[in-house]
Amino acid sequence: MTHQQPHNKVPVNSAAILVINCGSSSVKFSLINPVNGETLLSGLAECLLSSDASITIKKNNTKDTLKLAAPFDHQTALSILVTQLQQLDLVKDIATVGHRVVHGGEKYAQPTLITDEVEQAIDQLAKLAPLHNPANLIGIKACQQAFPDLPQVAVFDTAFHQTMPEKSYVYGLPYSLYQEHGIRRYGFHGTSHYFVAKQAAKQLNKPLEQCNLISAHLGNGCSVTVIKNGESVDTSMGMTPGEGVMMGTRCGDLDSGIIFYLVDNLGYSINDIDKLVNKESGLLGISGLSNDCRTLEDAMLADNNAQAKLAMTVFCYRIAKSIASYSASLTQLDGLIFTGGIGENSTWVRTEIVKLLGLLNFSLDEEKNQATRFGASGNIADKKSRACWVIATNEEWVIAEQSAVLLRNSMQ
Ligand code: AMP
Repeated sequence: MTHQQPHNKVPVNSAAILVINCGSSSVKFSLINPVNGETLLSGLAECLLSSDASITIKKNNTKDTLKLAAPFDHQTALSILVTQLQQLDLVKDIATVGHRVVHGGEKYAQPTLITDEVEQAIDQLAKLAPLHNPANLIGIKACQQAFPDLPQVAVFDTAFHQTMPEKSYVYGLPYSLYQEHGIRRYGFHGTSHYFVAKQAAKQLNKPLEQCNLISAHLGNGCSVTVIKNGESVDTSMGMTPGEGVMMGTRCGDLDSGIIFYLVDNLGYSINDIDKLVNKESGLLGISGLSNDCRTLEDAMLADNNAQAKLAMTVFCYRIAKSIASYSASLTQLDGLIFTGGIGENSTWVRTEIVKLLGLLNFSLDEEKNQATRFGASGNIADKKSRACWVIATNEEWVIAEQSAVLLRNSMQ
């Protein structure tokens, strides 16, 4: 199995969708045919606002890399992209711009046409996603300037999880904090979990609505989602992407008492704690070496580095525990999905996690496990196991497809 179509419902025309994923110092972009998922052009501008700012634009098989010595910002990155699109005569093909927006709160369970009101709501939701929503808004405003005549669509990372029941999203805190301030679990990586669940449904040859799945998105950020009858019913990330399993630089679930200890005894400020739990913990924190799974695999396998081994072992154990905990949400389970940079590529991580899931009747075919990497997808379970798929995620395609459908529906 390779990249497959995410939906049956596709727009009748095949105009391209420009997909924008704007981070605080980066802009990821792709121009996608929403009907067949073909990427016409893609690229990344990174290290924005620093002297290392660079932009890479790839069209078909050619790679055009532009390195700028002077610092440049999101707007400049987008205007470089626009110039490229003009030179390649592609602007006329763009039907709409689809933006990945991280936090849609309870308000946005669907892709949404961006209006002034929607922009204000995204801005207000920045309280819940201070690192992400402001960056997403920068991308929206820059695209409005660059493409004043094109409609813009927001596709929210939280949207797929809006089907979670109250028992999954309410924290064990005074209920008034939820009612008055929206403090509840929202979940993230929704677009990715949705895409891979849809692909697994195709493998099962039944509608997504009849599928019961657990999906592990393991990249720099990691989350595990349980999908019952095609809907997300629980997920490991919470009000912010900090909750849940351990990640590259985030610690995941943490005893709140540790925060008081750090403040009372070690003089930590709130900013220090923010940096500690989000930037200095996880694989990086335990290994003291790197947040990058490849570096840690090399260190533990080639150099026998004990800290790297410990970091990877804790990482896998916490993910396996999270997967196993979802047996409380399901009465049937069709299979487990691995996706994200680590889930799609690390045979070691997949082996370690699945080894811990014997009680749920999972076991791997090591040959298939080794063979399914670098964009390949497929079932890596052995014959006696439940299905266990590696599925290469494609959030951009979902954003393109959903934006195209919304545009078409809004025109009818
Ligand atoms: P993502 O955030 O989805 O791009 O995933 C980033 C993570 O995927 C990093 O920890 C990478 O080390 C990991 N990764 C990418 N390629 C490989 C690979 N070939 N083997 C193991 N981990 C990989």
